[in-house]
Amino acid sequence: MAEALTAKRKRKPKDIAVITDNCTGCAGSPVCQTLCPVDECMILCHDEAHDPFGYIWVDPLKCIGCKKCITKGPEGLWLEGCPWNAIEMETLESWEGRNGTLPY
Ligand code: SF4
Ligand code: SF4
Repeated sequence: MAEALTAKRKRKPKDIAVITDNCTGCAGSPVCQTLCPVDECMILCHDEAHDPFGYIWVDPLKCIGCKKCITKGPEGLWLEGCPWNAIEMETLESWEGRNGTLPY
């Protein structure tokens, strides 16, 4: 993981959001950032080779697993979450299995 972890959270969530390769960075105006209730949880990282495109990085120590960033409404009737389906929820157990235990 290239980015430094920021602040610690008080307790572990069951799931956390992870961003897939589908993320375009919404051309510099990430929809997901407007839905996330946690400050500086979803960080826009710039892709200098493809400006203004970039990608989102979710700080695993800040994500509370609320799923607001993937909200689609009942049976997908409205589109509030990621328009590119680039956000997946992963159990913390699985995330830590891939990346190591988080320092809560
Ligand atoms: S995760 Fe989705 S909503 Fe967020 S910046 Fe990437 S493409 Fe846009
Ligand atoms: S699950 Fe909630 S806290 Fe985590 S990135 Fe999505 S909106 Fe933010």
